[in-house]
Amino acid sequence: MKKHNFGAGPCILPQEVFKQAADAVIDFNGLSILEVSHRHKDYEAVMDEARNLVKQALNVPDDYEVLYLQGGATLGFTIAALNMMRDTKRAGYMNTGTWASGAIKEAKKAGIDVNVFASSEDKNFNYIPKDYTIPTDVDYIHFTSNNTIFGTQFKEFPKTDLPLVCDMSSDIFSQEINVADFDLIYAGAQKNLGPAGATLYIVKKSVLGKSTSTFMPSYMDLKIHAEKDSMFNTPPVFSVYVAMLNLRHLLANGGVKAMAARNKAKGDLLYNEIDSNPLFVGTTAVEDRSLMNVNFVLKDEAHKEAFDAAWKAAGIVGLNGHRSVGGYRASMYNALELESVQVLVDVMRDLANKHA
Ligand SMILES: *Cc1c(COP(=O)(O)O)cnc(C)c1O
Repeated sequence: MKKHNFGAGPCILPQEVFKQAADAVIDFNGLSILEVSHRHKDYEAVMDEARNLVKQALNVPDDYEVLYLQGGATLGFTIAALNMMRDTKRAGYMNTGTWASGAIKEAKKAGIDVNVFASSEDKNFNYIPKDYTIPTDVDYIHFTSNNTIFGTQFKEFPKTDLPLVCDMSSDIFSQEINVADFDLIYAGAQKNLGPAGATLYIVKKSVLGKSTSTFMPSYMDLKIHAEKDSMFNTPPVFSVYVAMLNLRHLLANGGVKAMAARNKAKGDLLYNEIDSNPLFVGTTAVEDRSLMNVNFVLKDEAHKEAFDAAWKAAGIVGLNGHRSVGGYRASMYNALELESVQVLVDVMRDLANKHA
């Protein structure tokens, strides 16, 4: 039976990409992609293409570097703080959920005096703050574009003349963005880009080498990675390869613009059902609803057993909410088909018809 994977990450990729990745495990120009030297010219071509396709997909301006590192977005919290630190050693952070909180915690550990100038913690992160004043006496501003766990998403990015840094792990490549608005974007691969293992950095060249941090391990220094064309040490070879395949697939299918329309259609389908179905209710502010992670609950827990059995029987996996939130979370990353969302909607409607 076809599985419909609504898991929050690692997540599904296009079937075609899985097949091509599997082929390369057996035969990548005579070797397995898993055993080929990362210094071989065939692999250098992979890294080059994987970096160039990001530039194409997001219209990255020439004065930016695209890099693949390891460590996930979690290490990105520290790398961002260390590379963006300047004279004031202060930064403004928006706290819109668990990952944003993690970024704040790690920035403090890296020696940043963090000013949390906006937060939605008062309502368990179910909205995106709108009334706030961006500080001016700081080195940079940091926010998290999509709140993967609670299901909110910025529809408009904060506007500032200060360097802007964004953790885009869970919505990069899902919509068009203007890279020039940012000094640094980072994202773990395993939501919209590829398998876990690689972390994408898009960094303005003028940022590199300007840190005032006294502690800067070579691996954390984006300048070193840029100078070495993302080959400072052994890169996450397979993860970058599959990211490259996925980006080829994305560009061959209309790029992020087409993806945004597709994601909007999936979001409309599921949110309309949540709003019209008498058994369910959404948990996030309507205007801030994420198109990537849709959180909802049953109004009456008495239907839980029947609902859980029904979606499992329909081949749906990964629908349980994050352990810190409960309820349900339908993660609908790029590769999830509209057809899979329709299967979920049918299960919800069926349940309502039976219990009306
Ligand atoms: C998943 C996620 C992370 C954590 O990523 P890792 O690659 O596991 O370190 C950080 N930020 C956001 C927004 C995420 O969705």
